Amino acid sequence: MPPGYEERNVAERFQYDVVIVGAGPAGMCAGMYAGRSMLRAVVLERGFPGGELLNTELIEDYPGFETVLGHELAQKFHDHAAKFGAEFRTSVTVTRVHRRDDGTFETHADNGDVYESPAVIITAGGTPIKLGIPGELEYAGKGVSYCAICDGAFFRNHVIAVVGGGDAAVEEADFLTRYAQKVYLIHRRADFRASKLLQKRLFENPKIEVIVNTVVDEVEADAQGLVNNLKLRDSETGATRDLAATGMFVFIGFRPNTGIIEAHVDHDDMGYLKTDTNMMTSIPGMFAAGDLRSQLTRQVTTAVGDATTAAIAVEKYLKSIADHDGPPVIAASGGYAV
Ligand SMILES: Cc1cc2nc3c(=O)[nH]c(=O)nc-3n(C[C@H](O)[C@H](O)[C@H](O)COP(=O)(O)OP(=O)(O)OC[C@H]3O[C@@H](n4cnc5c(N)ncnc54)[C@H](O)[C@@H]3O)c2cc1C
Repeated sequence: MPPGYEERNVAERFQYDVVIVGAGPAGMCAGMYAGRSMLRAVVLERGFPGGELLNTELIEDYPGFETVLGHELAQKFHDHAAKFGAEFRTSVTVTRVHRRDDGTFETHADNGDVYESPAVIITAGGTPIKLGIPGELEYAGKGVSYCAICDGAFFRNHVIAVVGGGDAAVEEADFLTRYAQKVYLIHRRADFRASKLLQKRLFENPKIEVIVNTVVDEVEADAQGLVNNLKLRDSETGATRDLAATGMFVFIGFRPNTGIIEAHVDHDDMGYLKTDTNMMTSIPGMFAAGDLRSQLTRQVTTAVGDATTAAIAVEKYLKSIADHDGPPVIAASGGYAV
């Protein structure tokens, strides 16, 4: 929070070239590129800068950093963006993003402040849906994970469990058998929502044992705080038992944080925002980058890739508005007439 910001008791209006919602990897990278383009950019963050990096112990797949602590990478992203002039406002929750009739935006914060800008980049990420059981949050990063690509390699030769019955759970269980000695797939029902092809692969994989009609009631850990046991309950009979496992991957859904967008915006079946190749959504001037964007995978590398494109596209979009003294002219190629 900038000095003096918290002492104000009167809501204010601010003007920027671009307002960036969320200071995860995508938001911070967008801020850096916007700053380098000499745009007046503000990054609004409800917590601290870092996003999911702050929930990640080690990152081992960000090029150039063989191993880096999540919070260290977050700090580097922040400092880099700030160095190029991006302004950060933390502890500011965006409540809604409104497109005015003239095509510009009002971004409303929970303290009543309003940020006006001709372009916005939404980088609010998403939230993995939690089981809500004892031990789950306590041991997140110590055996409990929501990301197989990110954390799978830490479970080489371990016995682990995957929870869920949809495509993500089945696909990731299969993926995790590259590392784990054995993977239990725990599903609360007997029938799976996952596609038939994925189910076939699941049941044919000798390293996967499927446990149906079962829920996890609690995650337990050893004296070092590392997961070593799951307490299971049969959802039909109520019978309970222990399952020795050193990891639990939860894939019961992921909610993109898009509820702040007031108008209708095109999205896929899962609610992820659809964009063109310049990261512009179906709302002219509103760009999206990172985990809330509809795409194949969600990683730090993809978040910063999206954000780079979005920030550079914003610069061209603003130039297009200035040159044409009105709404942007979208070229047939999908780019802006600049
Ligand atoms: C446990 C875990 C481990 C992972 N490990 C790896 C890994 O090893 N390697 C890898 O490449 N990827 C990893 N990932 C994935 C990676 O962290 C994400 O792909 C990446 O953080 C996405 O960046 P983002 O900026 O799109 O979203 P996020 O990181 O989710 O950031 C979004 C930001 O927006 C803020 N925000 C949301 N709503 C609002 C609002 N209304 N107002 C203001 N601010 C708001 C949030 O507080 C957050 O800071 C991991 C993810 C998880 C969950």
